[in-house]
Amino acid sequence: MTLRTDSLEASIRYDGPVRSLQLTAADPAALAPFDGEASLAGERHLLSCALSTTNAKALQEAFPVLRPQLISPHRTSLGTGDRTGLATPGQARAFGEHGTGVMPVLAQQSIREMDRLGRSARSVMDDAVFGLVEAGWSSGFGADCDHIKSTEGIDRGLEAGFVMFTLDPGDMVADVTGGVTAADAEALPWDHLEDTLEDVRARYVGMVLDVGHTQIEVTEQDVLTAAVKYGRAVVEAIRLYRHATENARHEIEIEFAVDETAWLTTFFEHFYLASELRRLGASWFSFAPRYVDGFEKGLDFLGDAEELRENLEAHHAISEQFGGYRISLHSGSDKFSIYPLCVEATQGHVHLKTSGTSYLCGIEVVAAHDPELFAAIWDISRASYVRARASYQVSAQADRTPTSLSGVDLAELISSSDARQILHVGYGDSLNGTDPAGAPIRDRFLEVVTRHQGLHTDLLAAHIGRHIAPFASVPVGG
Ligand SMILES: [Zn+2]
Repeated sequence: MTLRTDSLEASIRYDGPVRSLQLTAADPAALAPFDGEASLAGERHLLSCALSTTNAKALQEAFPVLRPQLISPHRTSLGTGDRTGLATPGQARAFGEHGTGVMPVLAQQSIREMDRLGRSARSVMDDAVFGLVEAGWSSGFGADCDHIKSTEGIDRGLEAGFVMFTLDPGDMVADVTGGVTAADAEALPWDHLEDTLEDVRARYVGMVLDVGHTQIEVTEQDVLTAAVKYGRAVVEAIRLYRHATENARHEIEIEFAVDETAWLTTFFEHFYLASELRRLGASWFSFAPRYVDGFEKGLDFLGDAEELRENLEAHHAISEQFGGYRISLHSGSDKFSIYPLCVEATQGHVHLKTSGTSYLCGIEVVAAHDPELFAAIWDISRASYVRARASYQVSAQADRTPTSLSGVDLAELISSSDARQILHVGYGDSLNGTDPAGAPIRDRFLEVVTRHQGLHTDLLAAHIGRHIAPFASVPVGG
């Protein structure tokens, strides 16, 4: 595929395991911002370039469609992370095949994943830019610097041109479900909250919260619990928010996420968070509460679907009381059974985040074309699972999976629940590890997938397409 302006054409070329950026122009001035090797083909000037940051930035200057856009003008959006840097073309094709109803967020990685893989925010952006050129994508995309827990993480995302910032004050959420006392609440950092306990009581105790299907009378205990559980997280969220908005030199959008915490966000707690963040001057377009249980990595929803529907309806109803922001579903991949109800319950004002599921498409390519490498990844993922499972919502049991792969149908293995989760959360140790001969697994992985990028793109287009389809019926901006 080729991207074109009046003065410049760009495409990605594959020579075995090596990719390069190919540019052609009638006027050599159009090629001046790029680093590469020049040649002539008749009247046309050619430049063969490495996939470097300099060249990605020059592409973004030359092609406005390669600059990330705001997501908020689109009611429904879907994020696809890319741990390998090779998934964007397949993901973009999937979006292209489902119309323009769902805004794609094609550059998306959490700070944790970047650190685990030794990737910079800029390299995540570069990979998306080159992938979009490869896909010939000209319909716009979003870029989400995900799960940011420090001002330094914000700086990284701003520097790399990210537009969406997912601020995660989850480390400051207290693990309480009740039983808190006024003394616990007194101990909150009231000066940072620019508030007093008396004022909080006056604002919330006795109010009736309408969450669509039901009304909740808010008690003193509800208010104390919400304040103790989330008060310090409000302070942290505002600290991050102010840093982001004060330092941004381009327009940005904020999601607040508390999804990676121990206990469900009750409806009043959602209301409290929104109301307090608003009081302290924040605005945001997306919010991820901690939902009911059942969101496990790489598997369909395992919880009670009706409970989830009521939960989402209520969260959506609360968001409407603050002008309407989208409800963000994290760990959203492979939850095919609940997508229709997610769209219905939120009236399409929803964001779905997936990440590791695209990596599993790369794993499928490795299993098909380099079973020996797959075995090395399997061994490492399986061995590291005990530790990895501590930081994820997963329930796979390694002892139900094979230690030896001889005679095992690898495609079948990858689609089984236990193996899927083990591979899903084992990406860091695997990609940072070495094969039995001592060679870096990441290099070999990228080489195999690059050589078979056609298959990889087909697998991704089909798999991500299954995620997009249920969301694609919602009209843009509707
Ligand atoms: Zn999350």
